[in-house]
Amino acid sequence: MTDILVVLEVRDGRVRPASLEAVGAAAAAGGGRVTALATEKAEIDAAALGAAGADQVLVAGAEAHSADGAAATAARVARELGVGAVFLAATIRGRDLCGRIAALLETGFAADCTAVEAGDEGFVFTRPVFAGKALIRVRVTGPVAVASLRANHFSPAGREATAEVEEVAAEEGKAQVTAVAAVGGGRPDVAEASRVVSGGRGMGGAEAWTLLEAVADALPGAALGASRAVVDAGWRPHSEQVGQTGKTVSPELYIAAGISGAIQHLAGMSSSKVIVAINKDPEAPIFQHATYGIVGDVAEVLPALAEALRGA
Ligand SMILES: Cc1cc2nc3c(=O)[nH]c(=O)nc-3n(C[C@H](O)[C@H](O)[C@H](O)COP(=O)(O)OP(=O)(O)OC[C@H]3O[C@@H](n4cnc5c(N)ncnc54)[C@H](O)[C@@H]3O)c2cc1C
Repeated sequence: MTDILVVLEVRDGRVRPASLEAVGAAAAAGGGRVTALATEKAEIDAAALGAAGADQVLVAGAEAHSADGAAATAARVARELGVGAVFLAATIRGRDLCGRIAALLETGFAADCTAVEAGDEGFVFTRPVFAGKALIRVRVTGPVAVASLRANHFSPAGREATAEVEEVAAEEGKAQVTAVAAVGGGRPDVAEASRVVSGGRGMGGAEAWTLLEAVADALPGAALGASRAVVDAGWRPHSEQVGQTGKTVSPELYIAAGISGAIQHLAGMSSSKVIVAINKDPEAPIFQHATYGIVGDVAEVLPALAEALRGA
């Protein structure tokens, strides 16, 4: 039985869904007490966190996010509680904190994990490498196993319980986030969405995104994604970029329209459950990774797809 600390990510005062999944992973893997920690002020829904698998929620009162402050608070709380593991969601912020917390606890970390198993010698984490072509199993041999967990691979526990909520002191940070500018026009973050409609250079230009938006509008909860070629061309913001130098996504459904399937793009989306590729070149590498492939022009296929989805 291992007690686990889960460091929650807060955006606009609310706990992000990927953090609830990390809480669920902790409850399933540890068998011990699960403590969730918000390192900054947050609206805590004790019932939702309890249902996700947390026994206790600690809230540190920092006014805003500070990477070094949050890591120091998390490391201190991990030591005070004597936990055997610290889990975070593998979001951009979670990845940043993961290494910082491991360094403060003088231990190692497993990044971007897609599965966690409890073994006789501690946790064994599974993580994709080489653009998802291989999976490696990692064990942290240090005193505490720190790990970031990829969104959409774990589930909140779904139990009937309410977590106890308590306030704790926040460590001061040297650098603080002063403002966050929201982009994306009200759509979910591409890294957390269960459906992603992504476009590449084959879309032909920024104005063609109305075709992708029509498909996304017909799929509840869908986010828009893009290849790096598109972001470099200034057609879409970097926040939508999927891949090695963008975001990693693992949705139920990933639609790749006019994307060739370069290894750096695959690095960010190959663990998607169902991949639908639309490309006019039947030899495009993306088809080797697609669950379903449509050979055709995006200008013809996307409107037909949107119409079919609206009628479904
Ligand atoms: C260090 C490094 C990091 C990188 N990181 C990333 C990353 O994070 N994410 C990323 O995406 N890339 C990344 N890249 C770039 C990557 O190598 C590719 O250049 C990029 O993914 C190509 O984008 P694309 O598929 O949109 O464009 P292209 O490779 O140009 O492909 C366009 C595709 O559209 C098809 N097409 C053209 N017209 C149509 C049409 N009318 N209808 C249907 N299909 C059509 C073509 O057949 C082609 O397959 C990185 C590269 C490097 C070196």
